[in-house]
Amino acid sequence: MTPPPTSADVVVLGAGPAGLGAAYRLAGRGLAVRVLERAPAVGGLAASFDVAGVRVDHGSHRLHHATPAPVAGTLRALLGDDLQVRTRNGRIRMAGRFVRFPPSPPDLVRRLPPSLSAALARDVVAGRWRGRGASEPRTFDAAVRVALGPTLASRFYAPYVEKLFGLPPAQLSPELFRRRVGARRSGSLVRRAVAGGRARRTFMYPRRGYGQIPEALADAAVAAGAAVDTGSEVTAIRCDEHGAVVETADGRHHEASAVWSTLPLPLVARLAGAPDGVRAAADRLATRAMVLVYLVFGAARWTPYDAHYFPELGVPMSRVSEPKNYRTSTADPRDLTVVCAEVPCRVGDDWWRSGAQEAGERVRDALARESLPAPRPVHTEVRRVRDVYPVYALGHEAAFAAVDAWARTLPRFVHFGRQGLFAHDNTHHALAMAWAAADAARPDGQVDAAAWSRARAAFAAHVVED
Ligand SMILES: Cc1cc2nc3c(=O)[nH]c(=O)nc-3n(C[C@H](O)[C@H](O)[C@H](O)COP(=O)(O)OP(=O)(O)OC[C@H]3O[C@@H](n4cnc5c(N)ncnc54)[C@H](O)[C@@H]3O)c2cc1C
Repeated sequence: MTPPPTSADVVVLGAGPAGLGAAYRLAGRGLAVRVLERAPAVGGLAASFDVAGVRVDHGSHRLHHATPAPVAGTLRALLGDDLQVRTRNGRIRMAGRFVRFPPSPPDLVRRLPPSLSAALARDVVAGRWRGRGASEPRTFDAAVRVALGPTLASRFYAPYVEKLFGLPPAQLSPELFRRRVGARRSGSLVRRAVAGGRARRTFMYPRRGYGQIPEALADAAVAAGAAVDTGSEVTAIRCDEHGAVVETADGRHHEASAVWSTLPLPLVARLAGAPDGVRAAADRLATRAMVLVYLVFGAARWTPYDAHYFPELGVPMSRVSEPKNYRTSTADPRDLTVVCAEVPCRVGDDWWRSGAQEAGERVRDALARESLPAPRPVHTEVRRVRDVYPVYALGHEAAFAAVDAWARTLPRFVHFGRQGLFAHDNTHHALAMAWAAADAARPDGQVDAAAWSRARAAFAAHVVED
């Protein structure tokens, strides 16, 4: 028998940080809110879960000090002392050496081969004149070369973006550079990394894993009257002038005055029956997938570092992190640690199809080749995640504009969040979007179009923090 329909002012699609932040704020204003989430638990990409009794994340996650004050204030109030301030302790592998991340000039000079540090220094000095009078760069590669010089472009960014996004830098858009690097000169990149002071050398992280952030937002939303339905996959969206209905895989209909979606925009185009031209544009918005390999070692600690970054293409992982080193928690077991390797990949490729044992062996071999300890794991788990990174291929702007323009014409519908806006954004950006959308909400849950357009223009300035 089909379950009876539910009714709310706003149905929020997706229980990642963006959806939960919006639900919390809307419910706090007295609106009736229902959140629909496909996964069995809340958190989206920012979720945490248990591996061998250790809370782990979907790869390395940190809450950055760039978090806007109203959002940070709410998270501090919800998490209290559990939101710890931690000192960063990471390393990057370059030219067969490890250098500190964020970088420090004395460390770079001490550790890199002299020819490489001399080339980096030359690029910083030449940065004042590079690209003067040249036309706007048309690719990521050109943008990075003009702004940061040929050494960082070829030794760091070229292999790293190819590993992350599956395309060489000459086939990626300069918009990727603006969103992920932001700095206009190599000097300013070094200054930003080095002189940012405490704010850049530290980060915030909850005692019980990064997922404690969305979990706390979900609890607060429920306490304010919202309903959060996990295990509820959205299968259809219908919005018109009279109302909105969302269908879930269990056959249930959810009626609302407005639909707030954080689902991937190409998926929305399918679920809401976009015309063929829009669906064709949506198909051109590619995303990268990731296999996360969790190795459990029977030791208190693997290394003292929180994360190791591997830009070089010969290493399959982009980053390896050790969750226990992100927090101080008596809940963590003393004699076990988990190491998480992030392997960017394509759905269906070798990595995607590999089982836990094979993936674990491949990661272990790679760690050993990079002079890192690779004890035999006592247990290995694998998680496969689709839609991890939007791929800003050349021309993606036109495809996104077509799908976005269509979605903006849907009555009673608003799309936001990292997947909703096909953005590389951090958690604090996703939460800033949720706050802005809630601020633009009318009493019936629909969003004021002018206020929302102003907020959208501000989101375009987001630059990702790593
Ligand atoms: C490897 C990695 C490392 C990262 N590190 C950091 C970091 O250090 N700091 C930082 O600030 N950010 C980091 N991020 C980014 C951060 O995870 C995201 O910004 C944040 O999770 C985005 O929140 P969101 O709510 O917009 O989207 P999501 O978290 O993607 O949430 C979308 C939700 O929609 C749900 N959904 C999808 N389809 C359906 C459907 N049909 N029906 C119902 N529900 C559906 C999904 O299950 C998901 O829960 C990282 C991301 C990755 C991939």
